[in-house]
Amino acid sequence: MDTKNIDTSVTYEYQDFPDKQAGRCDNCGNSLFKSSVADGKFLRECRNCGMKKNI
Ligand SMILES: [Zn+2]
Repeated sequence: MDTKNIDTSVTYEYQDFPDKQAGRCDNCGNSLFKSSVADGKFLRECRNCGMKKNI
């Protein structure tokens, strides 16, 4: 995936956008996340840039 085009207002899907490096944000490489569960999905939000992904 082209990380220049990451939009932090969008929630990405892990199946469509697997981690480039496991457990790290695709956008900034940070490994600290804020996690929540919504609609039976596990949402992971980067604490640095705010990128969101359902995993
Ligand atoms: Zn990030």
